[in-house]
Amino acid sequence: MHKPDDSGSKPSIIVLGAGISGLSVALALLGRGYGVKLLERGEVGAESSWAGGGIVSPLLPWDYTEPVSRLALRSMAAYADWVAEIEARSGQMAEYWRCGMHVLEPNDPDAALAWCKARGLAAQHGPMNTNELVLPDIAQVRNPRLVAALREAVVRLGGVIHTHCAAKAVITQTGGIVAVDTAQGMFSADQFVLATGAWAGLALPDLAGAPNIRPIRGQMLLFKLEPGALDTILFRNGLYLIPRRDGHILVGSTLEDAGFDKSTDVSTRQRLHAEAAELLPVLASVQPIQHWAGLRPGSPDNIPIIDRHPDFRNVFVNTGHYRYGVTMAPASAELLVDLMEDRTPALDPTPYSWNAASMRTWTGTV
Ligand SMILES: Cc1cc2nc3c(=O)[nH]c(=O)nc-3n(C[C@H](O)[C@H](O)[C@H](O)COP(=O)(O)OP(=O)(O)OC[C@H]3O[C@@H](n4cnc5c(N)ncnc54)[C@H](O)[C@@H]3O)c2cc1C
Repeated sequence: MHKPDDSGSKPSIIVLGAGISGLSVALALLGRGYGVKLLERGEVGAESSWAGGGIVSPLLPWDYTEPVSRLALRSMAAYADWVAEIEARSGQMAEYWRCGMHVLEPNDPDAALAWCKARGLAAQHGPMNTNELVLPDIAQVRNPRLVAALREAVVRLGGVIHTHCAAKAVITQTGGIVAVDTAQGMFSADQFVLATGAWAGLALPDLAGAPNIRPIRGQMLLFKLEPGALDTILFRNGLYLIPRRDGHILVGSTLEDAGFDKSTDVSTRQRLHAEAAELLPVLASVQPIQHWAGLRPGSPDNIPIIDRHPDFRNVFVNTGHYRYGVTMAPASAELLVDLMEDRTPALDPTPYSWNAASMRTWTGTV
């Protein structure tokens, strides 16, 4: 049995899953003096948190329900400071960049502008084109680097990470979990956090799966141009281009309900490439240097589950952030830790509860 280091006075905590959801909770808990272990089935941050684009905003922020907007906007307001703290603790850069986003051909630009104005999000018509909106304050982060920096910050704060350590079952006792059985044996702790991304919907023996969470595949292309070829995010009709400062350009994405299958296909590569070249013609003459797919932790209406587990008083859940887990990470971690410490959270937690998630259903489209 792997036992917690009991030198600290605060409860020991095991976090299952070392994607951005698990790492951000671990960081917040370590900052409050808890002893934290992360148990990760594969490598740290190698699933959805690596595969995504790193835009720090919902793509069309005005298109979502209030629970999504509240959590996303709270995170977006905190993001620059959050990344700066992670960079200072880790000594690694995450390339947070307020590069702005241009939305081409929005459905109802005036309604979108009114929405932004009401929420204090800067937005204006494009300089040449009224059928374009410019959101100058939208930022991006280089998500694989953010995850690497988070990992380093967690370790430097005393967090312990076990990779290749899949949780297989839980050992329960009178309403609580006392240990997790893993590929590397049994680990005990006082409290547990489930942050297993798209896999959180799967039940483990004696542990119910999180309601209505399912994997939604997204395919991405990566190009390499000279730095400066594009200096803002472009979005049109579901497709986006994200420039990195060194000339890489990410193109995404798809929303595919294809189970736990991360394969890619040629016709999607060709379609994404052709649509990207319509927005940035120089791409027509270059080939992508990489094409991959990741599995988002899909949830109906994109509303995550951030709550105490209904069956176990010492188990908490942070999952189902679907398209916006990078964006929502700081505010989700803050909310979960408030719930773990029985403090009144800054946001009303009701929409993110396990119960609310049980009532929402997928409407047929992803
Ligand atoms: C193509 C694409 C584009 C995206 N673009 C953006 C974007 O621009 N902006 C944005 O905000 N979000 C974006 N996202 C969404 C974002 O990436 C996810 O919402 C976020 O990464 C989810 O993080 P997570 O930690 O919950 O899940 P994951 O990163 O998937 O981490 C879950 C971890 O749990 C581990 N695990 C699973 N089962 C077990 C087990 N039994 N025991 C131990 N460990 C286990 C997994 O191995 C994995 O490492 C995108 C996603 C994709 C796929």
